[in-house]
Amino acid sequence: MQARRSALRYDVFVTPEKLFTGLPHAVGDPPALDPTTATLIYGERDAVLVEALCTVREATALADWVALHDRRLTTIYITHGHGDHWLGLSVLQARFPQARAVASAGTVRQMHTYVNAEAQISRWRALFPGQIADTIALADPLDTDHFALEGLPLQVIETGHTDTVDTTALFAPDLGLICSGDGVYNHCHMFVGETTAAMRAEWIAAIDHLAALHPAAVVTGHKDPTCGNPPAVLAESRGYLEYYGQLREAALPDQELFAAMVSRYPDWVSRQQWLLFGFPS
Ligand SMILES: [Zn+2]
Repeated sequence: MQARRSALRYDVFVTPEKLFTGLPHAVGDPPALDPTTATLIYGERDAVLVEALCTVREATALADWVALHDRRLTTIYITHGHGDHWLGLSVLQARFPQARAVASAGTVRQMHTYVNAEAQISRWRALFPGQIADTIALADPLDTDHFALEGLPLQVIETGHTDTVDTTALFAPDLGLICSGDGVYNHCHMFVGETTAAMRAEWIAAIDHLAALHPAAVVTGHKDPTCGNPPAVLAESRGYLEYYGQLREAALPDQELFAAMVSRYPDWVSRQQWLLFGFPS
């Protein structure tokens, strides 16, 4: 459903949750990566894709879905450096060689960190054996905070430290649409397990910054596929961070904290231990 009249439209692709290989857990669902989104924003002729997803199968399915829209893909935008949003980039670039892949300078820095620290890529290959592309492509850094789709602006919003460092969202003012990356989640447990109180305060400030744009829709990086994309997810994610912070402050043992979060958010997907306590090293 489009909330406003605009020359642009958008469509959202959501992957199913996918199981990790070899990750131990004590509570919650079998370890898996939460359902992940990519968004196509398109006009009469051209299109911009936000996120490139993770595995070869996901990126191939995404490329097929993009092609169904019958637009010229000009740009692939990556919101942040976590590999679940961009390791599929080489697959999309092979399919759409005319599209330029871009991201903020900070996000590109994080991508380089991944590739330079081969351990990071090896970790993803171990979690999804045989499913990560042999060739890892990087985005080019944007030297401005905006770019255009058929003459209409798409605005890069720096959101700082949310579930990782140097994150961004992409705002399409003409649609009132925010593609939030992992700065906001939609009825999906949030990756808070590697945050401190100070980081969560920065994260909440980033959500408030996005809310001040008064979006009509927010497509989050991870979501319950059965949910729409309402701006209410901003307040819900803010509330989740605050509640998690209160439980952390109360120094609840992990198992009790996990139970409390699941009981507070009984309908949210991805009841994953690693989201709440971080990745085991
Ligand atoms: Zn993510």
